[in-house]
Parts: sequence; C-alpha cells; structure tokens
Amino acid sequence: MIVDSMENVELFSSEGKGRGLKAAKEFCAGDVIFAEPAYAAVVFDSLTAHVCHTCFKRQEKLQRCGQCKFAHYCDRTCQKDAWTNHKSECSAIKKNGKTPNENIRLAARIMWRIEREGTGLSEGCLVSIDDLQNHVDNFGEEERKELTADVQTFIDFWPPSSQQFGMQYISHIFGVINCNGFTLSDQRGLQAVGVGIFPNLCLVNHDCWPNCTVVFNNGNHEAVKSMFHTQMRIELRSLGKICKGEELSVSYVDFLNLREERRQQLKGQYYFDCTCEHCTKGLKEDLMLAVNDENKPSQGVVKEVIQFTKDTMEKISKARSEGAYHEVVKLCRECLKKQEPVLADSNIYMLRIMSLASEVLSYLQNFEEAAEYARKMVEGFLKLYHPNNAQLGMAVMRAGVTHWHAGLIEVGHSMICKAYAILLVTHGPTHPITKDLEAMRIQSEMELRMFKENEYVYYKMREAALKNQPIHVMPEPSSNTTPNSIFHKKQ
Ligand SMILES: [Zn+2]
Ligand SMILES: [Zn+2]
Ligand SMILES: [Zn+2]
Repeated sequence: MIVDSMENVELFSSEGKGRGLKAAKEFCAGDVIFAEPAYAAVVFDSLTAHVCHTCFKRQEKLQRCGQCKFAHYCDRTCQKDAWTNHKSECSAIKKNGKTPNENIRLAARIMWRIEREGTGLSEGCLVSIDDLQNHVDNFGEEERKELTADVQTFIDFWPPSSQQFGMQYISHIFGVINCNGFTLSDQRGLQAVGVGIFPNLCLVNHDCWPNCTVVFNNGNHEAVKSMFHTQMRIELRSLGKICKGEELSVSYVDFLNLREERRQQLKGQYYFDCTCEHCTKGLKEDLMLAVNDENKPSQGVVKEVIQFTKDTMEKISKARSEGAYHEVVKLCRECLKKQEPVLADSNIYMLRIMSLASEVLSYLQNFEEAAEYARKMVEGFLKLYHPNNAQLGMAVMRAGVTHWHAGLIEVGHSMICKAYAILLVTHGPTHPITKDLEAMRIQSEMELRMFKENEYVYYKMREAALKNQPIHVMPEPSSNTTPNSIFHKKQ
C-alpha cells in the first residue's frame, strides 16, 4: 500500500533543467508514486507545547519530556519513536538551559543524523543531504546576514562532544533548509505546524500546472499495530494519468496568483525563472483578470478598482492581525460592492476578497452570508484550478461545511461530495481529512434524504444535532493557516 521504496521513479539529469524525477511506469489519478518519511523535522517555536514532536498532530493534552521539559508527545508510543532523534537534542537543551529557534533545531537534527549515519545516501533516498541545493551563492545581503547569525547561534548550541563540522558545511545545511524545508501541517490540514526535510521530494521540479501533488500525512497510531508501518510521511500523488517516462512535477506555489506574482515568489524563494507552459503562454491569465462582460468598464475604471482592492487588502490584513473581524467584514463588503459592476466572477481580486469574507463570516458564525460568498468563490475556483487541485478540494470542503451550517443542505451536500472526490485523489482515502469528509458526506446525505421527505422533521433533527456535536468549524482566521507555498520560508 505505502510505497517506501523509490522504484516507481527514475532520477534523470539534463543540461538545461538540471535534475528531476521521471515516472518509471504509468500512473492513474490518486496513485501514490512514493511515500517518504522526514529525514529530519521540527515543530515551530510558537507551537512546541501544542503539537506532538513525533507525528505533528495538534492535541489538547500532550506529555512533556521529563528531561528537557521542551519536547511534547501524544503518548509513550510517540515519545519512544522520537528518542533516536531527540536524544542528543534533549541533552543539548538541558546543558544550554534554553532552546534555540526552529531553524537551528532543524539544522542540529540534520547534523546529528549525519553524525549517526554519515553523509552518504540514507536508506530509501535518491539524493544525499550533501547533494541538495543550498543557493547560498544567490543570497542577497540581508539573507547573508541572517545566515551568519544562524551559523553563530548554531555553533553556540552545538555540543563540543558531538562531531564537529566546518563553517562552510554548516552554511550548506542552512541553505538547504532555506529552500527545501517542507511545511508540515496538523492532521486536519488547517494549520502549518512545523518544517521538515524530505530529500527525494526536493528532486521533484516545479510546474505551475503540475501532474502530481504532495500531501503530508501525520500517520495513524492505531495502524502501528497492524502490518503497515504508518509513520508520518509525505506522499507524492498523481493528479491524473501519467505516462511512463514523463517528468513528475509539483507546484511549489499556489496557482491562484497572477503569473507575475507566481514568478516573483519562485524567484525570491527558489531562485529560478518559471518556464512552465502556463507561465510562458499565460494560460488562465485572461480569466484571472476578466472584467464584467455586461458593463464593459474602461481600462481606467478597472485599474482604479484593482488599486482600491490592493489598498483594502492591506487594511484587511491589519484588521485581521488585530482580531478586528467585524472590521474585516465591513471592508470586504465595501470592496465587493465596488468590484461587482467592474470585475468578472473569475477575477482573482474578487475571489481573494470573497475568500476572506466567507472565512471570517464563518468564524463569526454568520453562515448565510458566508455561504453566499463561498458559493461564488467556488464557482470562480472551478474555472481556474486544475480539477484535482488540493487547495480547490479544501476550499470546496470549507464551502460545503459553511452551507451545511447555513442549513442549505442541498448545495452543502453536493459540495461535500465534490470535495470528497477531489481529496480521494489528493489526500487518499486514509488521510484524516478525507475520513472526516466521508463522515460528513454520509451525514449530509442522510440529512438531505430527510429534508426531501419532511422538512419539519429535518429542521428539528438539525437543531438537536447542532446542540450535540457541531461539525468542527474553521480555525480562527488570524492563526497561521495553510501556507501558499509548499516549502517553508523563514519569516
Ligand atoms: Zn504524536
Ligand atoms: Zn527531552
Ligand atoms: Zn509557471
């Protein structure tokens, strides 16, 4: 079931493009091409007491490491699994009396693994840590300063009794983390909780319209007892049919950005100019910038509305960070009123505002209005995204839940079904989010049947259901929600 070996892929290297991975056989939508455990991974500084340091699940109650009082685990199983990786860290933290930041901790975990296993190829890896790109030569002045500071902090933290590494090697490791650190999310996929290094994944090149997706799976405790060892891992999954010999690709950034924005992000974080088909031909760009067909606004008016949107986005982001959610809603409504006569419903500036509005309104439990924006947003997303895009699936899921909460069971159920179909491909049937969705699908199907038979009974039942076990809603909007880039960029 889980492909730990790398026999499904072939490493290639070409003049212009450098390294990459090719399919060694044919794949269909939803196939796991490979699964890879982290070479090393750490929990973000802000969440060290809320997320398990082994499986990265968010838990109400965690057990603390009795020695360093820093590491936290779900239970004995997770603690035991962690010990090989935590042992040296534990004593270094005790000795230093304080814990360094996530970047330093990740570098140290990598170095301790190198100390244990050497620098060669690790089991199941097609590339060694030494051979990963670091892009240190591309660093600007600011990045160099940070690098020097990180190296110094690392040296202060690193125990003299451990294997010693040269400055250049330490810089290499920080460079690798900087451009290859993969963002890990909690089990519901709602929050970015940590960062890890997955060497094989680093070999998969970027395409804005990729044929694969990468998903983080926190693993399954209960299944540990069964024959499949389901530790936390990433999975590279096929989004559609892939022929033998075809290059495998994932998107490092969210497609729902203008070409120029995607290219800037890719250049800034990964130091390359995207030459994918969607960038060179500007595919979908017209839809992302489309204007209201009926009103045919002048270029000047369109420009003005876009500028207004950009200014509003800044105000929204400030209000959001201050937790002023009613202010966010007010700003969104104002902006949408200006946008509606001018922009088309697939216009990216309009979709951004609708997405924010539905997210915050859901949080404020104003589900009717949230559902209206969510529905329009989903319609726009469906025109722009690849039909099996993971972000699309998550957005449709949230929209479905919002409709369910608003009592709009017909649309809600159909959205939940749609999201379930996408997540079966992007996340697979055993992922906790897919399982949640499956439960929601069964529940909403039953409710829909009841609704069609007898509306009065349906509303009575719903009231009772809401009191007993409300379907979990969205996280607070200001929290560190899923990032728009798969690799983690240090803040
Ligand atoms: Zn755990
Ligand atoms: Zn400890
Ligand atoms: Zn591109």
